[in-house]
Amino acid sequence: MKTYQMFINGEWVDSVSGETFDDLNPYTGEVYARVQKGDEKDADRAMAAAYAARKPWSSTSSFDRALIIAKAGHILEESRMEFAEVLTGEGGGTFGKCMFEISQTVDLLATAAADGKRILGETFHTDPTKLSMSLRSPWGTIVAISPWNFPLILSMYKVAYGLATGNTVVFKPASDTPVIGLKIGELFERAGLLPGALNVVTGPGSVLGNALIDDDRCSFVTLTGQTETGRHVAQRAAAKLKPYVLELGGKNPLIVLGDADIDYAVDAAAFGVFMHQGQICMSVGRVIVEQSIVDEFATKLAEKAASLPAGDPSIPETVIGPLINDGAVQKVDSHVKDAVSKGAELLAGGKYEGRVYEATVLKNITKDMLVYREETFGPVAPIIAVKDETEALEVANDTTYGLSSGVITRDLQKAIFLAEGLEAGMVHVGNASIDAEASVPFGGFKESGQGREGGFYSVGQLTQIKWVTIEKSEHHFPF
Ligand code: NAD
Repeated sequence: MKTYQMFINGEWVDSVSGETFDDLNPYTGEVYARVQKGDEKDADRAMAAAYAARKPWSSTSSFDRALIIAKAGHILEESRMEFAEVLTGEGGGTFGKCMFEISQTVDLLATAAADGKRILGETFHTDPTKLSMSLRSPWGTIVAISPWNFPLILSMYKVAYGLATGNTVVFKPASDTPVIGLKIGELFERAGLLPGALNVVTGPGSVLGNALIDDDRCSFVTLTGQTETGRHVAQRAAAKLKPYVLELGGKNPLIVLGDADIDYAVDAAAFGVFMHQGQICMSVGRVIVEQSIVDEFATKLAEKAASLPAGDPSIPETVIGPLINDGAVQKVDSHVKDAVSKGAELLAGGKYEGRVYEATVLKNITKDMLVYREETFGPVAPIIAVKDETEALEVANDTTYGLSSGVITRDLQKAIFLAEGLEAGMVHVGNASIDAEASVPFGGFKESGQGREGGFYSVGQLTQIKWVTIEKSEHHFPF
């Protein structure tokens, strides 16, 4: 078992207090690593380093910045198995999930490196006596806070684009997956990043989060996490009028209409619900199926759920690995028990061993059940029967969330009706709700977040606009 230090100002350091915390392996329950328990003093050190590095880093040429970010991508590609071991060891990710996440992150780094060279301004052809234009500049020092479920790629959206746009970054990974955050620090150290441009601090989210957001040297906050955390961070940042971007929770619908190929729809639903044990912000949280096919669909989804290999995530064939911690197991189980007690029919799963919760399928879901409304964040498929696409849309939108969605139908007009009507930041026709690419606008409507990440959307958010004019000849003043 290894003890990790924090990465501040290009150096590996202990917490000021000397305290550490245990990072657990969610499958075995054993201590995976010992990690520094940072507090306000460590936040201060990291902010000081990032603030001092902001001028040298923002004046580094975009070419040199791109080289470093692209190099980090190459190192990650070459160190795949090393990163996969961490993603499984502390995060419980199955082999397939880890490979998917690493590939997507390599792509993200390549995209961010290129996008950092396209920070575009505009010219305004208004008053002919002057040149009028907008320039984009970095905010300065940004604070990046990320979750444990896809800890590599979700952190990298913030870190890679933060650096690509000339900001320096203080990054706080989730306490369930701190080592992957520290590995990101190591990756950029190996790529030759300027000391202080990226700093990684580990420790309790509330303590470090508050200290970092409140710090006057922090000029922008980017968070991916639960909606409740987002509400807190938004209030905290707003108190100091700091801008922020929030990527938050979801209760994503998959709508399956009566004309769908049922076997295809079952495969899409199984992937959408059970990938990474349902612990994805974009996971399908409600399966809304037209009445005419609901029985056959539910029976087939239950058969598929029961057939998925579950258990040790380090075995490559495993599809259902462990949930992240005991709290998650209790939450998922309480949602399932609540549904069954209110009349839901349990078609598969509903039990757990250790932290491995069986792929679960529930039918006859009603609005009063927790699985209808709350983010379960586990391998649970609540199936809701509807009479047609109009009712499907009503049910899909009956949520405070609005992150992603999927629609399975072969009827183009119904697909357009649903794509336009769904109150979600992302709609995937012919697919489940899980999809992401480095350059697309990723984010949610309603309480699923504010702002978008990815490609030019990240560049836009992580830079501020300045209007600049240059008079072509001397200006005439009225007095
Ligand atoms: P979380 O909100 O518990 O934690 C996220 C991060 O915020 C962690 O680093 C945590 O330490 C930190 N944090 C906690 N309290 C804080 C505070 N008071 N101030 C500042 N930071 C604080 O979320 P989680 O359990 O790690 O992740 C799962 C959640 O994230 C789910 O709700 C999921 O839907 C959501 N998520 C959203 C997206 C998206 O892109 N929309 C992606 C992945 C996960």
